Amino acid sequence: MAKAVVIGSGIGGIAAAIRLAVKGYEVTVLEAFEQPGGKLNELRMEGYRFDMGPSLFTLPEEVDALFALADEKVEDHFNYEPLEVITKYFYPDGSTLTAWQEVERLAREIEEKTTDSADTFKAFLRYSEKIYDLTKDTFLFRSLHKVNTYTTPEVRKALFNVHKLDLMRTMHQAIAAQFKDPRLVQLFDRYATYNGSNPYQAPATLNVIPHLEHNIGAFFPTKGMYDITRSLVALAERQGVTFHYQTPAKRIQHNGGRVNGVEIPDQVLPADVVVSDVDVTKVYAKLLPDVKIAKRYIKQPKSSSAMIFYWGMDRSFPTLDLHNIFFTSDYRQEFNQIFKEKGFNSDPTVYVFISSKVVEGDAPVGGENWFVMINVPHNDGQDWDQLVALEREAITNKLSQQLGVSVADHITCEHVLDPRGIEQRTSSHLGALYGNSSNNKFAAFLRHPNFSRKVKGLYFTGGSVHPGGGIPLCLASAKIVDQLIANP
Ligand SMILES: Cc1cc2nc3c(=O)[nH]c(=O)nc-3n(C[C@H](O)[C@H](O)[C@H](O)COP(=O)(O)OP(=O)(O)OC[C@H]3O[C@@H](n4cnc5c(N)ncnc54)[C@H](O)[C@@H]3O)c2cc1C
Repeated sequence: MAKAVVIGSGIGGIAAAIRLAVKGYEVTVLEAFEQPGGKLNELRMEGYRFDMGPSLFTLPEEVDALFALADEKVEDHFNYEPLEVITKYFYPDGSTLTAWQEVERLAREIEEKTTDSADTFKAFLRYSEKIYDLTKDTFLFRSLHKVNTYTTPEVRKALFNVHKLDLMRTMHQAIAAQFKDPRLVQLFDRYATYNGSNPYQAPATLNVIPHLEHNIGAFFPTKGMYDITRSLVALAERQGVTFHYQTPAKRIQHNGGRVNGVEIPDQVLPADVVVSDVDVTKVYAKLLPDVKIAKRYIKQPKSSSAMIFYWGMDRSFPTLDLHNIFFTSDYRQEFNQIFKEKGFNSDPTVYVFISSKVVEGDAPVGGENWFVMINVPHNDGQDWDQLVALEREAITNKLSQQLGVSVADHITCEHVLDPRGIEQRTSSHLGALYGNSSNNKFAAFLRHPNFSRKVKGLYFTGGSVHPGGGIPLCLASAKIVDQLIANP
């Protein structure tokens, strides 16, 4: 039986393992950490459970597709629900905006609470949908690096309509041209952070993201985000995939330009196909030191990283929802801080995600599990211990002021992750969450392809390669790898 080895059990690696097992390969997954999931992981602490990374679940049909591929019913193994409220936004002037899932209801909220109209918002969603329609079958779910991609009718249509991709404006320029109310401009600018980019630099094509969240919808797994990892690992195991934890790959072996195995601490696993889900910069530095990576793929500016405080809270906060954003008063300065100055931000936008609002048992009765995140630069040698202390104070002060409660007094236990910890736990180069940023209009073409041009049989999935980071795109990378690998 032909053998495939997948290195890394992030969402892209697990999806690739399922797809290859269904194709008929004997699949082994190597994972350096003690449990699967990579960034899509969980932490348990003093009676609280925390989803450690992703908290927003979009395009769930990409997960459903994996169960369908294996002839299983998703609802027998994994359940999720659409959210009634996607996000609650808190502004520095004390106003709030509730992003209802239902478009009409959100449009009414915008009409009532902002200086923009419901129609302006709906027109923006139509524009966002158009970008999605032009990119989904072309750039998102296909290799950008194979000639035959460019001969498909979908791509010819996209190239003919390239002006509709809005490549020449920045995200912010397009959003500011659409909305008068600065609070809505800030709300839609924030979507740049979904792939670690800067809305003042990234092309307006990224305005595709609101379509995923508002038109297609935002969902949440009934047992929390980590259930995505757990249920997909179980699906992979039912398909015969073997997982080895605390087993880091040391070297990808190849001979005569073809992959033939993966070295692990005590042995070499033979392989006809290797799929790496590891950050691609690390792959070349550590696992393939004898193969040169084209400079254009690694010279790109890296995406932002995150500083996350996991706080067990001893009380509940009824004004908060599952996803809450507390905006900064100066968004441009925040992005300058993240991408240029790279130091302390005294007024960061704070994201508070509380899974215990919907998942019973994620916090002791009467308490809440707070995941409190700010966007920060990737690791550039900053004094992170000092920055963590400073940001913790800035965040607790800001939340206390907005909620009218001394937040710090209600924290019963704490765990902190900064770019160093993210790199150490998941091997992401410099702790960047999404590999390269998308801060220029050619960024999509400068992500590493999903295959190696130098070593046949070697493929790449995950957030650092095409089409990019985030759960749906990592799942798309596994789909593309599946298209590229022949049946055994
Ligand atoms: C704080 C945070 C918030 C996020 N929020 C969202 C969100 O709301 N929605 C969303 O869709 N996405 C979000 N993302 C992004 C999303 O989590 C990632 O894009 C995605 O999970 C990355 O998956 P991946 O396949 O690239 O693998 P990764 O998660 O990067 O995992 C790679 C795996 O490879 C393993 N590995 C590394 N080196 C080796 C080796 N030598 N041998 C064996 N194993 C190795 C690592 O241990 C790790 O388990 C967020 C990410 C973070 C960190």
